[in-house]
Amino acid sequence: MDLMEYQGKELFRRHGIPTTPQGEIAKTADEAQRLADTFGVPVMVKAQVLTGGRGKAGGVKFCKTPADARENAERILGLDIKGHVVDRVLVEPASDIADEYYLSILHDRVSKGYKIIASVEGGVEIEETNRTHPEKVAKVDIDPTAGIDHEGARSILSSVGFEGRALEGASDLLAKLARGFVDADATLFEVNPLISTPAGDVIALDSKVSLDNNAMFRHPEYAELEQPGGGGDMEARAKAKGLQYVKLDGDIGVMGNGAGLVMSTLDVVHQAGGSPANFLDAGGGASAESMAEGIAFVLSDADVKVMLINIFGGITRCDDVARGVLGALDQIGELHQTLVVRLDGTNADEGRRILSDAGHPNIETAAKMVAAAEKAVALADGGRTYSDETTQETTQ
Ligand code: GDP
Ligand code: MG
Repeated sequence: MDLMEYQGKELFRRHGIPTTPQGEIAKTADEAQRLADTFGVPVMVKAQVLTGGRGKAGGVKFCKTPADARENAERILGLDIKGHVVDRVLVEPASDIADEYYLSILHDRVSKGYKIIASVEGGVEIEETNRTHPEKVAKVDIDPTAGIDHEGARSILSSVGFEGRALEGASDLLAKLARGFVDADATLFEVNPLISTPAGDVIALDSKVSLDNNAMFRHPEYAELEQPGGGGDMEARAKAKGLQYVKLDGDIGVMGNGAGLVMSTLDVVHQAGGSPANFLDAGGGASAESMAEGIAFVLSDADVKVMLINIFGGITRCDDVARGVLGALDQIGELHQTLVVRLDGTNADEGRRILSDAGHPNIETAAKMVAAAEKAVALADGGRTYSDETTQETTQ
C-alpha cells in the first residue's frame, strides 16, 4: 500500500523521525486559506497524489499570504499529475531550506535485505544523480536483523560528503528511519529532499512510503489510512476484503481465476468491442466461497452492467464454481445484471449442466472465452457484432 506524503509524514512522526511542522489537509480553496490563516504564513500548498514530481507539475507552491494559499489551492485541486487527479492538498508551515539531500531505505529483492541509498544531492531524481555522479550516491546493503545505529549511519553518510552538523543530524535521522522502517513493516521509506535548515536542523521535507501488504494483519491502524479517490473506494473495500482487484473505467465486470487469465480476458473484452469495469483475480485455487464473495463484490459496483466470469478449472473444479455462482446469486437476491459464465477445464461439462439446470434468468454460459466475451459485450449494449478476426479460440 502506498501512502500520500502527509500520511507518510504522520507515520514518520509516530516513529520519531523529524519532519516539517505538522500541516493539515484541505479539500477546498476556502479550507486552504483558513489553514494558512491559522498556521501563519508562509505556508506550502502541496498536491497529495500517489506520484512524485509534483513540484515540476505545478503541484507544490510556496504561499506568502492566506489569499495566495487560496489561489494556489484552487489551481492545484483538480490538477492532473501523471494521471492522478488532485482531490486534496496539504497545507503546512513552510520550512527554510539551507541544503537539500536524499535518503531512502527499501526492500531489495536482489540481496534479500534492506538497502540504504543516500546522497548530498537532493530534490532531484536520484536515478539522474546516480547516472551523472555515481560517486555522490551511497548504495549500502544492511543486514535486516541487525539494522543500523548512529555510527553505521554516520559512516555511510560521511562517505558521500555529508559533514558537520548536517552529518550528525542526518545520521540521527537515518538511524531512526531504519528502525521505523522495520517497525512499520514498510517496503520503502524515501525522503527527497531531506533538508537542513539555516538553524542546522535536519528534517524530512517530503515522504514517499510503501507498506508491506503482507504485514497488514500486524497493523490494524493501517485500515484507517484513507486512499485517494477515483476508484479508490472500490479498491479500498477490495483491499479490506483481501481481493486482488483493480477498478477500471468500463461497464463489464470481469472475474477469473489466475492473474494471467484475467488479463487475457480484459484483452478479449476489448477485442470484442467492450470495456472492462475491473480486474478481479479470484486466485488459482479459488474456492466456491471466494468465488461467491468476488461475484457479490463486482456486482456491487454501480458501473457494472454485465459480469463476465472466466474460469479455467484445474485445482478449482468447475462444478464447485457453478454451485458457488448459484449460491452467490441466492444471497444477492434481486439482480439487475446478467452474468456470462465461461467454464472450461476440470468438470466443465458438469459445471455448465448445473448452471443450465438451474435455469437462472440472469445466467448465460459459454464454453469458450471469445464467445463469452462477445456475449457479454452484446449484453452490455455497447458492442459491435462479431467479426471473423475474433473467432479464433484459444484455451485461455
Ligand atoms: P515532489 O516534487 O513531488 O518531490 O515534492 P516535494 O515535496 O519534494 O517538493 C518539491 C520541492 O518544493 C522541494 O524540492 C523544495 O524545493 C520545494 N519545497 C517543498 N516544501 C518546501 C518548504 O517547506 N519550503 C521551501 N522553501 N521549499 C519547499
Ligand atoms: Mg520530493
